[in-house]
Amino acid sequence: MLCDIMFIQDIGVGDTMDCKEFQRMIPGFLADELDNYSLESFLNHMESCRSCKEELTIQFLIETGIQRLEDGSTFNLTKELKSTTNDAWVRLRMRKRLLKTAYFLQIMVVAEIIAAIALSIALR
Ligand SMILES: [Zn+2]
Repeated sequence: MLCDIMFIQDIGVGDTMDCKEFQRMIPGFLADELDNYSLESFLNHMESCRSCKEELTIQFLIETGIQRLEDGSTFNLTKELKSTTNDAWVRLRMRKRLLKTAYFLQIMVVAEIIAAIALSIALR
């Protein structure tokens, strides 16, 4: 049963997003406001859709570029976008691992409750 849940968690959501949806979520991505499911669909779509990746790059360049121009600091935006999307993958993986742990703990708690009930019936 535990294995089933881990398996489901590992399948992931794949590229379930269309380009319109992707583009609507770009501001949310740049602000780091997407939930796990949206973030994974978003990243998967980005990996598989060239035009959306370009769109994201442009919006990222505009958003970050303007900020940097205001700061007056030097920058390498292409590199920064890459590290932003890499960070997003890492965060997603960590969140999923946390979810797995939470599932595991829940199952442990349920198992303990069942054991406690069984024990109290047995000792009656
Ligand atoms: Zn697309």
